Amino acid sequence: MKLIDNWKQAWKLKSVQVGALSAFFYALMYAAFELLWLFGSNFPQFWAAVPQEIKELLPHSWVLWLGFLNNILSVISRLKYQPELHDVNQFVTITAGHSNSDPGAVNGKYKEAELVRQFRNAVAHYLAAAGLTYKTDGAGTINLPLTNAIALAKGASIAIEFHMNASTNSQANGIETIALPKDKILAQKLSKAVADVFGSRLRGQNGWIDQSESARGRLGFINAGGLIVELGFISNATELATFHSKYWSAAKAVAQVIIEHEKALT
Ligand SMILES: [Zn+2]
Repeated sequence: MKLIDNWKQAWKLKSVQVGALSAFFYALMYAAFELLWLFGSNFPQFWAAVPQEIKELLPHSWVLWLGFLNNILSVISRLKYQPELHDVNQFVTITAGHSNSDPGAVNGKYKEAELVRQFRNAVAHYLAAAGLTYKTDGAGTINLPLTNAIALAKGASIAIEFHMNASTNSQANGIETIALPKDKILAQKLSKAVADVFGSRLRGQNGWIDQSESARGRLGFINAGGLIVELGFISNATELATFHSKYWSAAKAVAQVIIEHEKALT
């Protein structure tokens, strides 16, 4: 029997936890029934105290065995590799913020829309190398508008859009990922991946900004299930220089977070 790739981490799967716990309780119930039976046949006084409904149940203890077996089988079937369930329709969406016609934030000759599409391309390179299926809002110098990004986010197991922050305060700095509370952990991992490479600090709650607390309010991409990674401040000369020198390494780290997330889903 071929097991799923990550069977050693199977205890993390909800279906395995529920199945194992349920099997355990069935076994426990069975043991309790057997004990009652044993006691009852040896101590008539004790037996007299057992309610009639319970007495009637005891000969049916084999039903508990069925429950136990059923749960064990469900755990085994979850651990078994099922080609028909594998990778079917699973894809990642990565998009670049803004578009070819909307530059986003600008610092001198640098435009946010151009920097983040370079980053998108670099992440795509590593996802392709890992054999992941992914969708992007264009390749090379193409950066399609937000409406396309939102459409691409639909049905994706993760959808990530890259942006850069900007502030009138040239010292403003740090990495953040804006996401719904359900994606908090993933958002924190993404921010940390970038911050570790860039040597930047994390903004928000360890890199996560709840969408409802974001200055931008409700963002269409996040409502479509996406996460927005802000790769530092384009308005900060140091962060801009760091981005240029290290974005390939940061993209590789981001791709690694995505790859691990995808592996955990299969
Ligand atoms: Zn932006």
